[in-house]
Amino acid sequence: MYTFLSKSDYLTLPTLFYKSVFPTSTIEPKYTIFNKEYAKQLNLDTDYLLSPEGLNLLSGTDTSGLTPIAQSYMGHQFGHLTMLGDGRAILLGELPNGSDLQLKGSGPTPFSRGGDGMATLGPMLREYIISEAMHQLNIPTTRSLAVIETGKRVLRTRMERGALVVRVASSHLRVGTFQYASYYGKLKDVQALADYAINKHYPHLLQTASPYLSLFKTVIKNQAKLIAKWQIIGFIHGVMNTDNMTISGETIDYGPCAFLDTYKSNQVFSSIDQQGRYAYNQQPNIGAWNLTRFAEAILPLFSQDEDEALTLAKTELNKYKDLFEHYFQEGLLKKIGLTERSPKNLDLVSDLFAIMEEEKRDFTETFRALTLQDKLALNLTTSIKLNAWYEQWIEIITPNLDSSIKRMKQVNPAMIPRNYLVEEAIEEVETTGDKTKLNELLSLIKNPYEYNEKQLAYIFPDDRRDDSYKTYCGT
Ligand code: AMP
Ligand code: MG
Repeated sequence: MYTFLSKSDYLTLPTLFYKSVFPTSTIEPKYTIFNKEYAKQLNLDTDYLLSPEGLNLLSGTDTSGLTPIAQSYMGHQFGHLTMLGDGRAILLGELPNGSDLQLKGSGPTPFSRGGDGMATLGPMLREYIISEAMHQLNIPTTRSLAVIETGKRVLRTRMERGALVVRVASSHLRVGTFQYASYYGKLKDVQALADYAINKHYPHLLQTASPYLSLFKTVIKNQAKLIAKWQIIGFIHGVMNTDNMTISGETIDYGPCAFLDTYKSNQVFSSIDQQGRYAYNQQPNIGAWNLTRFAEAILPLFSQDEDEALTLAKTELNKYKDLFEHYFQEGLLKKIGLTERSPKNLDLVSDLFAIMEEEKRDFTETFRALTLQDKLALNLTTSIKLNAWYEQWIEIITPNLDSSIKRMKQVNPAMIPRNYLVEEAIEEVETTGDKTKLNELLSLIKNPYEYNEKQLAYIFPDDRRDDSYKTYCGT
């Protein structure tokens, strides 16, 4: 047997962190999509993986020689702390580069809490498409190696085709894993988990005076950076529970997420987020809230003196807002080709956002048209305000036009996975098995900053603007 998977180093942690469990969701596995390019980047033998034997391994049908586990974690879901754990995911093993290979939709586990442990084709394809797009947009994310149909029928609102996504993450450590350690474990368990996280992700921190505090600082910084990137691109995660916030700083769990079309600062897509807790403009605050939960869980590692530990944590948490603003403003300025963080430049950005919101403009389209200085696409004749803004802006960037445009092309994608394209591609695969639209979409969102012919030819149809677009949790 081809052994590219080794036993996960997660098994070196105390046993309360996981449960042994075998995948059971497949009857007749079949690749819906296999990410050949990514497999090659991972130095995996693609011929083997595409063979029946490889498919059996990657779908969890044949697990001989492996030590699969489900990970324990808790999570604040919409503000309420709950015991969760991998209820429908199983960690199959570790890749040669140290990343986790996980199957999502692999059957029940001791953490299934009455759920069936299964996933269906639509939501798994969605995770594949969006995570691939995020990667192409230069946003840290888990990735998808494949979507595999299991051959089982799965009951949701109707019978659906069962599927699993083969997910790769640098790890699946979450804020919720630390909450679990703190709630159910002893101090030594929290410490073991923090040691594991440092060794896995940030071994250089071992050289610092206080590695645990350094871990905390680093997670804060990486989350500030990540959420700034989401905001800059118009990505709404949709379910920023503490179990969906990683220690590595990768985006994880693509359930009810979506990209903004029309710019609306408090946009919510998720059907279950009725209070707007995870609205677009709330994401940075929720990041801070989640990091405070992280602080609570690892606090005792900062100092034996409780007051001192608290002061240290607060000092670091207070830096989050500035860190976020730093990355966010940098990105926003770049979106209009500027670098200098002057009040005048920042005002120019906020003026544009105000106009976009007032005039219900498309987020991606506006910045793409600015990047191309495409006055027609901007519909300047219809807006006195945007016209005036444009004149002011073009005067500012004209002396350094080339470098400004170059900068803009680094952050303003020519293409995002438009919600309707994602839905259409999935529907086509679900209903007819035809993958034409899926492959077209995947090729359109590849190298989104390239502004290639195909991307430039794409025009977002007016009748596809759907401000009432709803997404559902991928259960
Ligand atoms: P998610 O919304 O994917 O972040 O999942 C939240 C929690 O619910 C995790 O503990 C999942 O493992 C669990 N879960 C979601 N769907 C199912 C399912 N069909 N069966 C069992 N557990 C599930
Ligand atoms: Mg989750």
